[in-house]
Order: sequence, then structure tokens, then C-alpha cells
Amino acid sequence: MSMKVLLVEDDRELRRTLLESLELEGYAVIASGSAADAHAVVRHTMASDAPLDLVILDLGLPDGDGSELLKLIRSQFSLPILIISARHEDDNKVHLLDAGADDYLVKPFSISELLARIRVSLRHRGKAVVAAQRQYTQGALQIDVQKHTVHKAGTPVHLTPTEFKLLARLVRQAGQVVTHRQLLWDVWGPEYVDHTHYLRLYMAQLRSKLEDNPTEPSLLLTEPGVGYRLAD
Ligand code: CA
Repeated sequence: MSMKVLLVEDDRELRRTLLESLELEGYAVIASGSAADAHAVVRHTMASDAPLDLVILDLGLPDGDGSELLKLIRSQFSLPILIISARHEDDNKVHLLDAGADDYLVKPFSISELLARIRVSLRHRGKAVVAAQRQYTQGALQIDVQKHTVHKAGTPVHLTPTEFKLLARLVRQAGQVVTHRQLLWDVWGPEYVDHTHYLRLYMAQLRSKLEDNPTEPSLLLTEPGVGYRLAD
């Protein structure tokens, strides 16, 4: 059965383009152009025997702010929500991720990027039921969270306990952005959520140990002003 996606976007042209691309990719898409309509669709479908698998949510909607809808959906359901936003709405990104969005894309984005993010979100949700991601392989890098090992081109890499904890947290959501706050909370603890300099320091250490070229990272990616993403 095909995955069911709710697409909330008030820009008619963009909505049509996305709808066509998603359907071409095999998704069953319900398109909506307003917050009120989208909320009605969510309530209706989630109670049906064919619930939604994912929501793609635009922030600037004619009858309200997408972030309100995000909170409303999140308070009732656990399905993945992908935010699509215009650049001037950037300030909101961190807030939205902390509020439970799975990922965000800034317009204009490519269809292939959107499809990749959808796949990552669905995969994480699918796995979350069974277990968090434990293993990660990308290029020459191999990480096994359970065995507590990191190898680069077959050679063991020594990490400090904190470096490993930070890396393991990123592996858990490989391919998705993790906010500064989420990382600081999970690795150092709730009282450290404002200590972003810890992250800069430890990410620099991790990059120097894991990246081929630490100044141009291809694995441990920076999302400016938001957080970090482990390439997937
Ligand atoms: Ca809009």
C-alpha cells in the first residue's frame, strides 16, 4: 500500500508541482491550502483505517501560522511532520524542530531533496518503533553505537566518552537535523542547553578525528543557526 501524505501549501503553483512529483514517486497525496482544512483532514484521516504517514507543512498559510498547526497535530498524533518554509521564516526553524517537527526545508528546494528528506523521516519513524538507529556507515566511516566502536578505513578511532555520546546522538537521527538544544540536552543535560560553545568545541574535535578535510566537513554538517546533521 502506498504511503499517504498530506501536503499543506497555499501557493497553488507549488502545491500542484509538489503534488504531481509526489504522486509520480508513488505517494498517495491529499493536498490542502489552509490550516483549517488541513486540520480537518488530519482529524478525519487519523481516525480512519487509512491514516496519514506524513505531513508536509507550509508555515505561511492564509488562515493561520503553520507552527500552530504543527503543535496541534503534534499534541494528538506522532506522525512525521516536515516543514517547508520561505527564507524570511528562518528564525522559526529551531523553535519548530524543538516543537516536534521532524525536519525542515527552505524554499526553493529541489524535489529530489524533498523526496530524500521524506524517506529519512519515514525510515526513522518506522525504526523508532523497533529500535533507534545503532549503526552508521558512510564512505570510510563505520560507527557501531552498541559495540561502542568507530572505525575509519578499518582503523579504530579513539573518542572520548563525550565525543562518542555526541556522535551517537547524531547517529540516532542520521540524515536529520538535530538542534543545538536537543544535542546539549541529551549529551550534557537540561542545565546545559545554552552552552552552544560546548558543541562548537566538540564538533571541531570530532571533525578532526573523522573527516578527511575537517575544514570542509562532508559527514558532520552544520545547519547554520539551527544545529547539526550527520550526512546520510
Ligand atoms: Ca505559504
